[in-house]
Amino acid sequence: MIFNVLTLFPEMINQAVSHSILGRGIRSGHITVNCVNIRDFAVNKHGQVDDAPYGGGAGMVMMASPVFDAYVSVMGNKETKPPVIYLSPQGRVLTQKICEEIAAQPEVILLCGHYEGVDERIIEEIVTDEISIGDYVLTGGEPAAIVLMDAVSRLVPGVLGKADSHQDESFSDGLLEYPHYTRPPEFRGRKVPEVLLSGHHGQIDAWRREQALDRTKAKRPDLL
Ligand code: SAM
Repeated sequence: MIFNVLTLFPEMINQAVSHSILGRGIRSGHITVNCVNIRDFAVNKHGQVDDAPYGGGAGMVMMASPVFDAYVSVMGNKETKPPVIYLSPQGRVLTQKICEEIAAQPEVILLCGHYEGVDERIIEEIVTDEISIGDYVLTGGEPAAIVLMDAVSRLVPGVLGKADSHQDESFSDGLLEYPHYTRPPEFRGRKVPEVLLSGHHGQIDAWRREQALDRTKAKRPDLL
């Protein structure tokens, strides 16, 4: 899967995606992260990419033309247009289901805003979807793009090894996942539930299912 990221801070993205499972996915060729620096398409030799808002008010607005030119540089001669996702607090809130939708695409373009955001006309012209990572305001879209790429990448076949399978995980079947334990069998007087040491797979599966239901009821009843 190819993620093209239009950003003013490519080093933030490149740094974040070079580690752990995402980094491994990139090195194994399952994932490509192609950062395009919007400043390379600045409107003048001073590197200007933002300007004061028409109508007045605080902050600066990212100008349409550098963002558009960065987009065109990615599009090249592509025959099919990949979805263009603007990371925005005004978008639909990212869920596991939306991550699955995105993971089904071979390529996406992620647009990261900064300052007060981007000129509205760029949204009208190129953006096909707006995604928020929650009801709070970040200073820029980069942390949101990193969250999205992390959550989507682990759904791309081949990125997770068998050992890190996502099949049982929280939200995959509409429930939060059951609790996990590892050695030692006792820690500060707290014992690992007996059933997990029994070796009886049927009973372990039943216990995990019950735990998943109980904790979803307790922590996130809205999911049921
Ligand atoms: N003025 C905008 C508003 O009130 O809707 C907020 C702009 S915010 C300071 C700057 C950039 O951060 C946005 O253009 C967007 O790309 C990103 N951003 C902020 N909050 C976000 C969120 N919750 N999810 C995704 N992106 C976000």
